[in-house]
Amino acid sequence: MNYKDYYQLLGVDKKASEKDIKSAYRKLARKWHPDANPNDPKGAEEKFKEITEAYEVLGDADKRKKYDALGADWQRVSQQAEAQRQYRSSRGSEEYYDASGQFGGASGFSDFFDQFFSGVGRRQTTSTFARKGGDLETTIDLTLSEAYNGGKKSVALEIEDACPRCGGSGVLNNAICPQCHGTGRFVQSKRFEVTIPKGVREGQRIRLAGQGSAGSGGGPNGDLYLVVEFKNGDGYERRGDDLYMDLPVSIYSLVLGGEVRVPTMSGDLTMTIPAETQNNKRLRLTGKGMPKPKGGGSGDLYVRLVGMLPTKLGDKERKLFKDLAKLAENGSANA
Ligand SMILES: [Zn+2]
Repeated sequence: MNYKDYYQLLGVDKKASEKDIKSAYRKLARKWHPDANPNDPKGAEEKFKEITEAYEVLGDADKRKKYDALGADWQRVSQQAEAQRQYRSSRGSEEYYDASGQFGGASGFSDFFDQFFSGVGRRQTTSTFARKGGDLETTIDLTLSEAYNGGKKSVALEIEDACPRCGGSGVLNNAICPQCHGTGRFVQSKRFEVTIPKGVREGQRIRLAGQGSAGSGGGPNGDLYLVVEFKNGDGYERRGDDLYMDLPVSIYSLVLGGEVRVPTMSGDLTMTIPAETQNNKRLRLTGKGMPKPKGGGSGDLYVRLVGMLPTKLGDKERKLFKDLAKLAENGSANA
């Protein structure tokens, strides 16, 4: 971030009066208005924005006072504020509620402006404003069956937040904060009752409203987002709402047909395999996959039948296989 010399931008002296500043701004605004620069409207707009930003600060008594006070110290102040901000906005939300209750946002001005002035002097009556606390994020490990069934789960989660003692700056009374040793961070294990949405997917976020960083100036707390992760698939591979699995079956079941047990998320199921089923054949069990979000039915379960060849054959079995092989060599087994 670069320091903005607003006096230089408006071409006025540090001791310039309110009136001088205003007239300098008006003159420059007319000159750099994009409508007045048809040859380079983009460049003019940039310039226009800079001037407007400078006037926003120097034309406002509170902001100008703060700007003058920043002086050479601006970088140190900036670093502290930045550390705090990065902390508070793990999801990049820098919204705030100003004193009028109006919902604000990025000003459209430079980072320099946003950092130091976007909340200053907004209202004549008060320069304090309520800021919503930042959102926090952590991961939550679920099993597939927890996602299948949904419902409440009590979990202990490690929450990393700004240090409550120094507000996340790492600095307290011009010294390293003794609580966080200058990191500005504070990790805490907290237990939450989380409602798991049925069919929740990997990477989806579960929002716990008001469990993020504390707001300031009476602003509301931020939110806590839990990013869903699955440590293992409980023997299934999940693709969207469909599930895939390999089911070992005896070659006799494949050749002669028969019944096999299939483990599904809702319990075991008996499935009939037709005679002469080919190895690796994939069967679909409609509606036996994961529940779709918002009660939109369920995905399917695809079962791949994997024939298990017999080992450690006895003499009799070996002879029967030989007979089978001979029959196959001679052409049709029906001959
Ligand atoms: Zn601290």
